[in-house]
Amino acid sequence: MASERQIHVGTVPVGGGAPVAVQTMTKTETANLGETMAQIRRVAEAGADIVRCAVPREQDVEALKTIVRESPIPVIADIHFNHTLALKAIDAGAHCVRLNPGNIGGTDKVAEVIARAKEHGTPLRIGVNSGSLPKHLRDLEFSDPVEALVTAAVEFVELMERLEFTNFKVSMKSTSVPNTIASNRLLAQRIPYPLHLGVTEAGTKWSGSLKSAVGLGTLLADGIGDTIRISLSTFHAEEEVKVAWEILKALKLRERGPVLIACPTCGRLQFDMDSVVAEIERRLEAYADPIEVSVLGCAVNGIGEARHADFGITGAKDMGMIYSKGEPLKKVPTAQLVDELFAEIDRWYAAGKTVVRDEHQAAEAAQWLASEEDATQMTPERLAALEDAANEAAGGGDAVLIDEQASPTSGRRFTRA
Ligand code: SF4
Repeated sequence: MASERQIHVGTVPVGGGAPVAVQTMTKTETANLGETMAQIRRVAEAGADIVRCAVPREQDVEALKTIVRESPIPVIADIHFNHTLALKAIDAGAHCVRLNPGNIGGTDKVAEVIARAKEHGTPLRIGVNSGSLPKHLRDLEFSDPVEALVTAAVEFVELMERLEFTNFKVSMKSTSVPNTIASNRLLAQRIPYPLHLGVTEAGTKWSGSLKSAVGLGTLLADGIGDTIRISLSTFHAEEEVKVAWEILKALKLRERGPVLIACPTCGRLQFDMDSVVAEIERRLEAYADPIEVSVLGCAVNGIGEARHADFGITGAKDMGMIYSKGEPLKKVPTAQLVDELFAEIDRWYAAGKTVVRDEHQAAEAAQWLASEEDATQMTPERLAALEDAANEAAGGGDAVLIDEQASPTSGRRFTRA
């Protein structure tokens, strides 16, 4: 359920079915042009579609003129409540201005900003924060915080419509993940305008990423949300961009660069996988295509779990195997696994994105895999297959549990019933 309406922030379409746009915000003093531009270039490199800069002072709005001219991506001026700065930011050429109509000092001042935005064709992001709701909604905020947020947002939307302005997107920010989900679900049903999603003040890189993945991921999976920002307590804004991309890639909403699949490891691990995965992740950053690369810690399941991967490795004590789309390519000493993996990827590129297979090496690898694979291990996949077979033999219907006592991994419970 993408928003019906679409706006353009500079060249970036937002809403109306456009790809979900990734935003972040610079953490520098905006007036510090050198540092601000350096951070903007870093976030653009990391994949930000749009960047927002705080404009709380006159010197920031001065700097904004240069920033919008030199930035490789569209720039949103973050104003919040000073209507004079909002006017100046529009004059400075900001590609969008963020303000909270409830804090701008009355309808006349909002109308003045809208008139200037119309004149310049500048879109606005109008926002509601759980911490700064209009006074008449304070009681409702206590009894029903979600309805209070949505009511405030709808009132601002109606104000925009009365002023005959529709070139805007809407955000509702709450520090509560359940309230973020519930309020955006409600708002998406009530208005046709694009929605900006974020969990405000989400926290550190670890907890903030998780909260954002749960909150934004839930909404995006429902088709709600047209642009996202991950708010993390770090000076490195590019980290926010990377997290945003991981969420979009996980939901298959957008593609950017390779996808790394790695097993969680367990007691069967046969080689130093942590450092291998870290090295592969680092080297994959040089590639732009969404190739899937899988790393399995042992050959217990063969390579079946990673049969969709474009390339993968599975290791044992001294030797490992490189494979592509579930088919062995070659076996190599563990110490050379990573180099050989990238040699295969580069060979694939050189051959016009076609796998180049040496049949002799592939047969050798397949033989090695067969000797390493442990057909006695009762993995979840094999248990499921046994269950299916037992169910089939019993004539289908309700799932039949296998006899766990007969399982070589007694003590483990697994059922798909
Ligand atoms: S691939 Fe091997 S090491 Fe990795 S989690 Fe599965 S069984 Fe464990």
